[in-house]
Amino acid sequence: MRAVEIAAHGGPEVLRFVERPVPEPKAGEVRIALRAAGMNHLDCWVRRGVEGHRFPLPIVPGCDGAGVVDALGAEATGVAVGDRVAIAPGFSCGHCRHCAAGEQQLCRHYGIFGETCDGTDADFICVPVANLLPMPAGMDFVAAAAAPLVFLTAWHMVVARCGVKAGDDVLVHAAGSGVSMAAIQIARMLGARVITTAGSDDKVARGLELGAEVGINYKTQDFLAEIRGLTGKRGVDVVVDHVGGENIGRSIRALAKGGRVVTCGATAGPELQADLRLIFFKNLAILGSTMGGLGEMHEVWGHVCAGRLKPVVGAVLPLAEVARGHELLENRAVFGKVVLET
Ligand SMILES: [Zn+2]
Repeated sequence: MRAVEIAAHGGPEVLRFVERPVPEPKAGEVRIALRAAGMNHLDCWVRRGVEGHRFPLPIVPGCDGAGVVDALGAEATGVAVGDRVAIAPGFSCGHCRHCAAGEQQLCRHYGIFGETCDGTDADFICVPVANLLPMPAGMDFVAAAAAPLVFLTAWHMVVARCGVKAGDDVLVHAAGSGVSMAAIQIARMLGARVITTAGSDDKVARGLELGAEVGINYKTQDFLAEIRGLTGKRGVDVVVDHVGGENIGRSIRALAKGGRVVTCGATAGPELQADLRLIFFKNLAILGSTMGGLGEMHEVWGHVCAGRLKPVVGAVLPLAEVARGHELLENRAVFGKVVLET
């Protein structure tokens, strides 16, 4: 089969096409003939490498995928050859206390396809039956492959970590990113007033289309001043941040008393500079979030299947153009998801 492989970290030029044997499903697994692979910023981290972290090279990147079940391993029940499925991107030991509690992302053996083991940028992948997300008849493979990781990430941030409810003011940074596209819709669905930021008027307008009530162009407007104006100096209840860097210190200053900022990434830098006095006087919380539990995955997938939450796809490329996909993501040149067709 064809597969994209990263054998050494570096720029997009390290992405190589290789021939690999078609994988055989183990007990409890199925093999999926992939039709689409959704790209995430995680793909870029895996390609570039992360200081202090060792990835199992060579690796096939790609956390999200959708396709047709092609072969069943022993004990693979409740699924048939020919079923159309998307893939839940996380897996875990299945029997520790965190797994038993449905908090698989806290399992010490938690892993993600395309990061911990081979992923979806290939013709085939084998995954446990527990990772299958059935696709409804009207859903296409590109949309299915665009949804799981970002909607799970955003759901865990907005619902589990921050407990967003009707009437809350929620600031979601960087509307054009996959996680933000999902977070805007989820917070809106829950009845919050969503304020979003983006780096161009065009992206701001797209954020409003997704359900944000107010959009701020952070290149021409000071988001902190805008938030103060919009909330009568009160501040927002929740900030969804995956930008990090200087942005997060300002996000903390945008919070109302009792507010929470939740972070799932640090594309602008990993260091946090914040005034502790603000944090204790205003009873603030800084929350970390990565992925989410399998139950949450099914819950948010149900909303995607019902059309209440919609993956936004900014670019569809053939698998052969994976390097261009990485460039689009790194340059923030698309609004929403980049999906590879396999
Ligand atoms: Zn476990």
